[in-house]
Amino acid sequence: EMPPVKGEVVFRDVTFGYTEEQNIFEHLSFHVKPGETIALVGPTGAGKSTITNLISRFYDIKDGAILVDGMDIRDVKVQSLRKEIGVMLQDTFIFSGTIMENIRYGNLEASPWDIVDAARVVRAHEFIQDLKNGYRTVVQERGSTLSAGQRQLISFARTLLADPKVLILDEATSSIDTQTEILLQEGLDRLLEGRTAFIVAHRLSTIRNSDRIFYIGDKKILESGSHEEL
Ligand code: ATP
Ligand code: MG
Repeated sequence: EMPPVKGEVVFRDVTFGYTEEQNIFEHLSFHVKPGETIALVGPTGAGKSTITNLISRFYDIKDGAILVDGMDIRDVKVQSLRKEIGVMLQDTFIFSGTIMENIRYGNLEASPWDIVDAARVVRAHEFIQDLKNGYRTVVQERGSTLSAGQRQLISFARTLLADPKVLILDEATSSIDTQTEILLQEGLDRLLEGRTAFIVAHRLSTIRNSDRIFYIGDKKILESGSHEEL
C-alpha cells in the first residue's frame, strides 16, 4: 500500500509512444511540487491527455520514470495509485440515480452530511437545493436534466469527497456562459486547495489561475512558466 500522498509528481527523462514505431514524448522531464496547479496547453494531438494518462498509469512508458511522492509508479499497485489520482473527464459520468448517489459514487464511508458538505464547498449545493427534490432528485444517465455546468459541479463534489491528492481535469471545450464560468472557477479553486492538479485547460480563467503553464508540442514541453512569464 502507498503511504499518504503529498502530491509531488516527477517525470524523469520519459519516452513514450502508443506504438513501437512512433513516440509521443522523448526525454520528457518536469517536476511538480505538492499543491501546484499546472495548466496543460498546446495544439490538438500534442499529447496533453497522454501526460495525464501516464500519471494514472493507463500505459507503461518505454524509458525513464514517473514518480509520485518519490515512488516509481510501477512499484505501486495500480489500484492504490488510482485512488490517489482523481480524474475528471470532459463529460462528467452521471448514472441513473439520485444526485446524492451520484456524488457518493461508491464512497460507502461518506455520510449524507459529508456529501452535502462536499457539495457546499465546491458551490454545487445551491443549485441542488433549488431542485424540486433536492439531493433526492433522480437524474438519468443520458437525460438532459442537468446542464454541462451542473454536471461539472457534481463531479467537483464527487472528487472532493474521494479526496485524491493529485487531480486531473480535462476541461470541456464547449462554451459556457460567464456566470457559470465564475461559479465553476470558484468551485474548482476550492477543490484545488492543498492538492496537485494537472488541468488540460481551454478556459482563459483556468490558465490565469494556474501556477504554471506547460506548453506541449514537438514531443516535449516547449515552454513553461506562469501566465505572466509566457
Ligand atoms: P486534444 O487537444 O485533441 O485532446 P491531446 O494533446 O490531448 O489532444 P493526445 O490525446 O494526448 O493529444 O494524443 C497525442 C497523440 O497520441 C495523437 O497523435 C493521438 O492520435 C495519439 N493517441 C492518443 N491516444 C492514443 C491511443 N490510445 N492509441 C494510439 N494513439 C493514440
Ligand atoms: Mg486531449
